[in-house]
Amino acid sequence: MATRPDSAWLTPHRLMATSIAVAVLTLGFKTLAWWLTGSVGLLSDALESLVNVAGATFGLWMVTVAARPADEDHPFGHDKAEYFSSGFEGILIIVAALAIVWAALPRFWHPQPLQQLGPGLALSVLSAVLNGALGWIMLRASRRHRSMALEGDARHLITDVWTSAGVVLGLLLVMATGWHWVDPAVAIVMALNILFEGGQLIWRSTQGLMDAAVEPEVQAQVDAVVGRFVQAQAATPGLRVDHAMSRRAGQRLFLSVHLHLPADWSLRRAAALGGELERALLAALPQLHVSIQLLPLDTEPAGVPAAGEEDACTP
Ligand SMILES: [Zn+2]
Repeated sequence: MATRPDSAWLTPHRLMATSIAVAVLTLGFKTLAWWLTGSVGLLSDALESLVNVAGATFGLWMVTVAARPADEDHPFGHDKAEYFSSGFEGILIIVAALAIVWAALPRFWHPQPLQQLGPGLALSVLSAVLNGALGWIMLRASRRHRSMALEGDARHLITDVWTSAGVVLGLLLVMATGWHWVDPAVAIVMALNILFEGGQLIWRSTQGLMDAAVEPEVQAQVDAVVGRFVQAQAATPGLRVDHAMSRRAGQRLFLSVHLHLPADWSLRRAAALGGELERALLAALPQLHVSIQLLPLDTEPAGVPAAGEEDACTP
């Protein structure tokens, strides 16, 4: 039977708290595994968990900040705080990767025999299973909540599973062949993979901070609502909605549009129709923050080219 991990209980806050607990637990397991075996591969795995503890703690703080309602200092809300969490975690991942390389390199010149590989491997596999299960649940939740903090943490946990799998395979190879150089080699390959993952997280959070537009499917929903609205006002010739601009900030969507109306309408009448458009948009997209500018048919605000001319002006 398929379980339903996307229940309402799985809030970003609770998932982050669970993530910290699991990170502490796997840090213990992996440190013990390294201490038992002396493997730098397992040390690299343990360092990853240490990064998880720090990253998840920061992530928890960030989803707490992001969930705060808008206030006087931040009238648009705190949603973008999540992008810092993701960027911060990316930097931590890169630092961990460099630490692994630093620990592994001397082992090529001074190979050391590994001990008690059986219990060490068992601890590593147990940690990987824990991380994999939590990472999968968090990745699903991050899509539903559009939470960068959750996504950053989830991707990191899933990277950890691959790290652990590579380390375990390397150690099995050492057991089978007695080639001690395999252990540091695996650690360095894993470090390169971790570097790549960290770079991607940083890239994604910069895109969030750059005020990207809403996704095409969300834009299509907005267009459909606006299209129906304009159609319903067919009795008013020339009425149009133009100059739509959107941006996403975490879970929040911002949309601004012009509503052009006949110049002789009363302000009361114009505002009532603007309110109608706003309610129609909010009914389709409850997380939307709409700002509608009411304008006469033949007027655009200073510095704004008339709709249609925009494209003609762009080289
Ligand atoms: Zn306009």
